[in-house]
Formats: sequence, structure tokens, C-alpha cells
Amino acid sequence: MKQERKLGRVIKFYSNLLVVQDLESGERFLCKLRGKFKKQGIRPIVGDVVEYVKVVGNEGVVENILNRNNELKKPSVANVDQVIIVTTLEKPQVPYDILDRFIVLVEYEKLPIVIALNKVDLLSEKQIMQFESIYGKLYPIVKTSAVEKVGLEELKRHLMGKVSVFAGMSGVGKSSLLNTIESTLKLRTGEISEKLERGKHTTTAAELLSLSFGGWVVDTPGFASLEISHIKPLELRELFIEFENDNCFFPDCLHLNEPECFVKKSVEKGKISPSRYDSYVKFLNELIENQEMRAKE
Ligand code: GDP
Ligand code: ZN
Repeated sequence: MKQERKLGRVIKFYSNLLVVQDLESGERFLCKLRGKFKKQGIRPIVGDVVEYVKVVGNEGVVENILNRNNELKKPSVANVDQVIIVTTLEKPQVPYDILDRFIVLVEYEKLPIVIALNKVDLLSEKQIMQFESIYGKLYPIVKTSAVEKVGLEELKRHLMGKVSVFAGMSGVGKSSLLNTIESTLKLRTGEISEKLERGKHTTTAAELLSLSFGGWVVDTPGFASLEISHIKPLELRELFIEFENDNCFFPDCLHLNEPECFVKKSVEKGKISPSRYDSYVKFLNELIENQEMRAKE
């Protein structure tokens, strides 16, 4: 009898097995890989959508991996829909250029961004307004407080039905937000019965946490290294989404000291925030220095 192929998402790995969550029923299956994967040298990663067949009980076999929309390396996750960049302005006071660094890294991966301005319970109206005047015209901002449970419904609406990665400096409240949104998250990660858990090593790979209202969150924060050296100087300007690069006199204008630079004019006119432009110049100099150092080697 030929078993029906179904679609599921890989949410976690055990040593040589993977946990697949059925896309329709939400049921979980502990799956082996069809031998052909080894021969072809292909391995599914967390986030992959796969075709699997049930074998017996909650066991199955993965037959095929669907094409990935994208693939993050650290953590290794496929098919990410968006990145929630969590930040705040007190405890810790996250500098704008650190936030901009996260933004640049996520833009480089071509992933949609939602900014969660957390700890609003600690922030003044003035601080919030200033933040919104810079970032509000660029990205959706959700104002949250994990402590006072502010903005959580709005954050949930963003997470619903999607695969999200959280990013942001340590201490901004990423885990607090997740735990407040879904108090069962920790439970749910251990949902596969203890019997299966015992004796089989969970790998250190990332894991998708399933949200009760639909959607997944990667359990490991992304972009933690803040490393931008893989970006080429001329690529950087594309990652500042408010820059109209085509309007400068020189097509390859780096917006530093070139004449007839539309970006610099926009900064002077107040259309581009000075702090954003400062971050750009800081990152660009870093990238140019890197390039020069490499050339000398
Ligand atoms: P993470 O490193 O980004 O995961 O940050 P954590 O979730 O571990 O939070 C770091 C600290 O900030 C903890 O002491 C939290 O209790 C505190 N914290 C998190 N969210 C808020 C918030 O909205 N308001 C306030 N006042 N403190 C918060
Ligand atoms: Zn320019």
C-alpha cells in the first residue's frame, strides 16, 4: 500500500531523527530520512518544508525537501518570513548605530523587518517620539513592555502564521517578550514525549517554537555577531532603504564627498535622519578599511 505524502515543517533535530510538524493538523512526527538524501549529500534543516509519509504511530519518513525561499546560516534555519528586531532606549541604552547594524544585516538577507521598541514602561513620551521620528517611516514599530504587558496583542498579530527570528542586543527583552506572549512556549518545546527524549541527544541546532495562535519562532536569536565585513562597500547603500541612490550625479556615488549627492542633500533637508546617515558613514568606513587591509595581505 502506498502511503499518502503530506506536508510538514521540520522544527527540531535529534541525533539522527527529525521532528516534523504537519502543516494541516499540527501533529508531530519523529521522522527518518529516506536513504537517497545521504547519497545526494542533502540534509534538511530546521524550517524546511518537507513531504513525509506516516509509518506507524507518530513515526514517519521524510521523502522530499521543498525548495527553500531562503536560508539563514546563524542559526541555520530555512524559510524565515521576517525578523523582529527588539530594541530599547534604557537598560540597556541601545545606541542607534547598533540598531542600524542589525537592520543592515537583516536587509542584506532581504528579510522583512518589524521593530519592537521594548521596555516602554521605562521610556518617556519624548524618547518614544524621537525614536519613532527616525524609524517609524522606515519599518513597522510595535511599542511593547513585557513587564506591563503592553503591545503584546499587536506583536502577536505580526507573528501569526509566520516563521520569525528575533534579533537584538542582549538584555533588551527578547526572551521576556516571547515568554510573556506564550507562557506555554517552554512546555511546548518539550512536547515530544519523554520516552522519545530519553537516550536521544538533542542537537545544538536551532529549534522552531510553535505558537498556539499559529506561526513559529526560532529559539535562537539571529545576527548576534553583528559582523558586517561580508558586505561590499557599494552594497551598503542599498541596505539603507531611505536612500534614493539613483538620484545622485555619479551612479556609483558612495554619498561621502561626491558632488551633486542627492543623499547628502536629503540629510540637509531633514528627509534622511542624521543618525542614520552617521551610521552609514561609520559602517562604510569600516568596510573600506577592511577592504584596504585585505588588499595589503
Ligand atoms: P534578552 O537578552 O533580550 O533575551 O533579554 P531578557 O528577556 O533576558 O531581559 C533582560 C532583562 O530585562 C530582564 O531582567 C527582564 O526582566 C527585563 N525586561 C524585559 N522586558 C522588559 C520590559 O518590557 N520592561 C522592563 N522594565 N524590563 C524588562
Ligand atoms: Zn550620493
